[in-house]
Amino acid sequence: MCKRGMHVRVRGIVQGVGFRPWIHRMVEKYRLCGWVRNTGFGAELELEGEEEALESFLGELSRDIPPLAEIEAVEKEWYTPLHHYTEFRIAASRSGERRDTMISPDICTCEDCRRELLDPSDRRYRYPFINCTNCGPRFTIIRDIPYDRKNTAMAAFPMCGTCRAEYEDIRSRRYHAEPDCCPDCGPRLFYEGEGRTASDEDALEAAAQLLLEGKILAVKGLGGFHLACRADLPETVRELRRRKHREEKPFALMCADVEAAREICTVSAAEEQLLLSRERPIVLLGKKVRGPADPCADISENGRIGVMLPYTPIHMLLLTGTLRTLVMTSANRSDLPVIRENTEARSALAGIADGFLLHDRDIHVRCDDSVVWEWRGHPYFARRSRGYVPAPVLLRDAGQEERRCILALGAEQKASFCISRGRHTFPSQHIGDLKNMETLAHYEDQIRHFETLFQVRPEMLVCDLHPDYLSTRYGEEQAAREQIPLLRVQHHYAHMCSCMADNGLAEPVIGIVWDGTGLGTDGTSWGGEFLTGDFDGFVRRGSIRRMRLPGGDLAARELLRIAAALLAEAGESAAGPEIPAVYFRQLAAGVNCPESSSIGRLFDGVSALLGIRETAGYEGQGAILLEAAAEMTEETEETLPWEIARNGALEEYDWRPTVRALIKEKAAGRQKEILAAMFMNTLTGMAAEMVRRIREETGIRKAVLSGGCFQNIYLLKRLTALLEAEGLEVFTHRRVSANDEGIALGQLAIAERRRKQE
Ligand code: ZN
Ligand code: ZN
Ligand code: FE
Repeated sequence: MCKRGMHVRVRGIVQGVGFRPWIHRMVEKYRLCGWVRNTGFGAELELEGEEEALESFLGELSRDIPPLAEIEAVEKEWYTPLHHYTEFRIAASRSGERRDTMISPDICTCEDCRRELLDPSDRRYRYPFINCTNCGPRFTIIRDIPYDRKNTAMAAFPMCGTCRAEYEDIRSRRYHAEPDCCPDCGPRLFYEGEGRTASDEDALEAAAQLLLEGKILAVKGLGGFHLACRADLPETVRELRRRKHREEKPFALMCADVEAAREICTVSAAEEQLLLSRERPIVLLGKKVRGPADPCADISENGRIGVMLPYTPIHMLLLTGTLRTLVMTSANRSDLPVIRENTEARSALAGIADGFLLHDRDIHVRCDDSVVWEWRGHPYFARRSRGYVPAPVLLRDAGQEERRCILALGAEQKASFCISRGRHTFPSQHIGDLKNMETLAHYEDQIRHFETLFQVRPEMLVCDLHPDYLSTRYGEEQAAREQIPLLRVQHHYAHMCSCMADNGLAEPVIGIVWDGTGLGTDGTSWGGEFLTGDFDGFVRRGSIRRMRLPGGDLAARELLRIAAALLAEAGESAAGPEIPAVYFRQLAAGVNCPESSSIGRLFDGVSALLGIRETAGYEGQGAILLEAAAEMTEETEETLPWEIARNGALEEYDWRPTVRALIKEKAAGRQKEILAAMFMNTLTGMAAEMVRRIREETGIRKAVLSGGCFQNIYLLKRLTALLEAEGLEVFTHRRVSANDEGIALGQLAIAERRRKQE
């Protein structure tokens, strides 16, 4: 038997996640002595015991840590002589030590808490704020670091003796659970509406009653307010649409459990796992019934419905009994950030909600629900927010300086930013479209908040090339004020690098970047791009034939404008649907017809040509309904004709033959659904041909897919399969969104590289 000593440093997310109680259990199990303390990078331990026992302990550390802990690295060092510890203790953190700790995202109520919630003998029976070290609010209640109760929205609720005892008991599941509370000491639920008020159990009762009656309830959640109503009453759903001025954009649902979701959607095993994951995102599931008999047409006009499961005790208590499926949509005034305060909710939602289910714990940080598809067993983000933020994304290629900080400012639509501390990058939550002062204020606020949370000050800024984005203007002002460099990065290049960083790639790739629009290096608007390059730079190798957009930005809403442009270019101006002649006259005169190589706009134009959608009520609607139409048909391999032509240094997809064939097929009576599928097959065929040529020229065999168009799952699946069949290695997004929300990560990776070279 040989006694030894071991010094261990654990890097990662290990504070406030039940790591020390876990350590305590392990040292008891293996009869070890010594100490543990929290440090700036994570935790530090000194352990003495039998050599075998120490090895077993290390084994557990790599296998069986608490659910919220995330270990990045374990460094160990054997030592002699021994200190001959006789007990195990938790040592105080060194005062004044730099805090480089991580902050946990908000996590859904765990199974243990759920059991207690529903157990009549438990002292937290039906208490809507039950939580423990393994679950509950985190990011949304933190005001400042260190992560102690006094720096959270729980500061207003001093712990009672019983909770205090649990908090201090290392054997308790609530040891050092900062938001821990109970009915005696914690937040309270209350209800207001229709001239009535109630609290606690009565408040829940009143809220449930209101919902049952087919009325609309505002519910204060984790990262903001929701508006809720019964999903099975079309008239109620339509009333919510009227009051919210949200005519067509799909609503999300909250279902009591997976079985409830299965009543309206198909749920694969992988999708079920995502629904049940501790992040509890909204998962975009395929409808069980599509077409004219679709019972959920008022909830979502396309082939999918966003579904989430209850993630807070309030939701769990609300969705019991007869209430199995509710519409659950973010409560905000159009285009403004989600509402988070009681007073704001009362005034802003006065004409919308019939009743309010409120509580007295503040939401300190707004955080909307995350939205994902299931793709190859992973979440594929439409929106990365609650449950995931502020977990870091590791930048593999970055250097080792631990305090270096770069702030990447993102784009304009679906704004988000990304801030780094050494190799860790922290993508922000969903902020919204940076098109009004309120959203800009929220954006600036969150940048400051992230700087505080992670104790960093940017040394360098990086923004989009577009001079008019509010994020660019913010970057210019900050750079001037702080006297730090500002790097400007082309939009589609940033998309490409985002997908590279997302997949830990640093070597040259072929980037297929398809989106709405972004400013190109030549001053024109791009959007259907084939690039090659790495973090050092890029070459634009292919694109699509430019189209003219009569009316400029108006064309993104009035899709017939694009249809007119496509027809005019293709020499088919007489054909097609009823298109106002004024568009053709505008095109002929060339007045206010900016050009763009946007593939998103091509989708819009084709959607209008096929009579699927002529105006876009929300961003991307034309393309989304085109995808939905294609998914209505049996799978087809048919394509339409296309050409690739050389234009200077660029290979260009000429869509005119495609448009001409589309018109001809339509006139011949082909279904619009099949034509939608054929159009997308054409694009994937064209892309594969383009990639073949680029590969021959460059020898690059890795391809990344990025840009908002790759949230078209039909396109994503088909193009990935096609390229893989040709022997390419294809990478799609895993940890950030393919749309502009993910752009900041790419900007940051490029800036990081640029900085390293200086
Ligand atoms: Zn719990
Ligand atoms: Zn208590
Ligand atoms: Fe984009």
